Formats: sequence, structure tokens, C-alpha cells
Amino acid sequence: MKNLSKIFIAIFLIFSPIVTFSEPASLTKNYKNKFEILQPTAPKSVVKKQSETLAEPQFQTQKTPTISALQNSIPKAKPASMIIKEKPVIVIDAGHGGQDPGALGKNGTREKDITLRYATELKRALENTGKFRVVLTRTEDVFVPLNARVARARRAKGDILISLHADSHPNSETKGFSVYTLSEERGEREVKKLIEKSDQEKVIGDVDLKGQDNDVKAAIIDLAKNETKNFSESFSFILARNLGKTVQPLQNTRREAGFAVLTGLDVPSVLIELGYLSNEEEEELLKSKQHREKIVNAIKDAIDEYFIRYKYMI
Ligand SMILES: [Zn+2]
Repeated sequence: MKNLSKIFIAIFLIFSPIVTFSEPASLTKNYKNKFEILQPTAPKSVVKKQSETLAEPQFQTQKTPTISALQNSIPKAKPASMIIKEKPVIVIDAGHGGQDPGALGKNGTREKDITLRYATELKRALENTGKFRVVLTRTEDVFVPLNARVARARRAKGDILISLHADSHPNSETKGFSVYTLSEERGEREVKKLIEKSDQEKVIGDVDLKGQDNDVKAAIIDLAKNETKNFSESFSFILARNLGKTVQPLQNTRREAGFAVLTGLDVPSVLIELGYLSNEEEEELLKSKQHREKIVNAIKDAIDEYFIRYKYMI
């Protein structure tokens, strides 16, 4: 690996100013202060926390490089001191829309209407907390291509993307919610795609990979993918636990799939199947105000918990 040291240096210089590490939740006072200060110095030692119920994201870090010869030839991230976010940005994606109705319930309920309703109410609930900025990928009954949804989330510098759906199954008995994150296989395919695109556009945050060796590009994009995957999985765990307190889960509640909407490798992303429209009982539940409030509150609480537990900046 002749380029190994170059890769390590590139990774370090690009990510060290923009990645911070988790502190134990008990040390976190509130996350009003969480995004205010980022250390422009080399990473501190990683605080690893053991938890019985939740695997914390594991960060990889490099030692301070002693060689600076490559410094001018590799991309530079914004100085950390300039990265200030007042509120985490939550991107809510209402699945389907326009000519794509999604699943259809036995009694005629359309998935695209359910997802928009839940997305709108979740936005309101999150904004009412005063803690988050919320972006919707669609606000009305229109068709939005999947890649445009991901692009929207990236453009908004989303800290998390939540795609809302309602499922359908040939067996009308099947019911319960589930939470998906991006599969490893699809993630790897996406890395290859982004390497090819990286000379035309920025594919990971504000990092400019134009003209870099493919080895360097691959290492950086892969690192971002893995880190984002850790965050996505941690969030999906919290989400499934919170929703499971009030709503019936599907067996194997947390799942992986190659859904296109989850392919923003720099935006932690989950897709929630809120329930089955093919199950008459659940179709009625999904339409009811009471059930909607339960789900919206559970998701809101999960988002709250996630941002308290994981102090980070991507
Ligand atoms: Zn759907």
C-alpha cells in the first residue's frame, strides 16, 4: 500500500476538525451548547462508553501526522471554529406523492396521504420544542424523485433524515412498525458511485475531493459511510425502542435495505414503516388522531434522546 500514509494523513486533515466525540450522556447538560464549540485542535482521545442496551458509534482516529509535505495537495475542511450550528437540522421525508400513491389500504387509504400527514405533524411537534430546525422533502401531494430527496437533505446539511412510509403485505394479518437503515451492500455500491462523481461535485459534506487519487477518495468516502452508518444505527435503535413502548412492532423491528432515500453517505438516515395499510385494523389506527399523536411523540422523544446522547458534528 504505497499510498497508505497519504490516505491516513488525508483522512486526518479532512475529518479531524469536523468530528467530535461522544461524551457520556451524564456529562451532557443540554444540547443548546452542544454545537457551539468545536475544538480546532487534534482529536482528543475517543471516549468509549459501554452500554448494555445500545452500541455507541465507534470512531476511528489517527495520530497527529508528522509529515506535512502533502498538506498543500489535499483538500481542506473549513476551520472548525467557523462551524457553528444553532439547532440540529431534522429532514423529514414523506414517502411517495403525486402520481406515486404508494401502498393502498383495504379501505382506500393512500400511503402518500398518511406519510404527508405524519410528516407535517412531526414537523410541528419538533418545531414546538424550539430545539430543532425542520426541513420537509415535500409539503404537498407532488412527486419528488428519490435522488432529489437525498439531495435536499444534503443541501440542508441535515443532521438526520427520517423517511416515513406505510407498508403493504399479501398476508393481511401482518402488522407492526419497522425501522430501516442502509444495507452494507448498497452502501458499498454507493461509495463506488461517489468516487466517480467526486470530480464533478462535492459528495461528502464540504470536502473537495477533485483531482485526488482514487485510493484517497475511496478511503475518505468509506470513512464517512461507516461513521454515518454508526449514527444511523444508533438512532434506529433509540427510535425502535421509543416507538415500541406505545406501538406494536413488527418482528425483527430493525432492518437493513438498499432503499435509495437512505443513500446520503454524509446524512445519518432511517426509514420508518409506520405500519401495514394491508391490515385493516392498522389502516384504521394509522388514520386516527390518537395513534398519530403517539407515533409523532415517540419519534420526537427519540430525536431528543439521540441528540442528547450523541454530541457530534458532521
Ligand atoms: Zn412506501
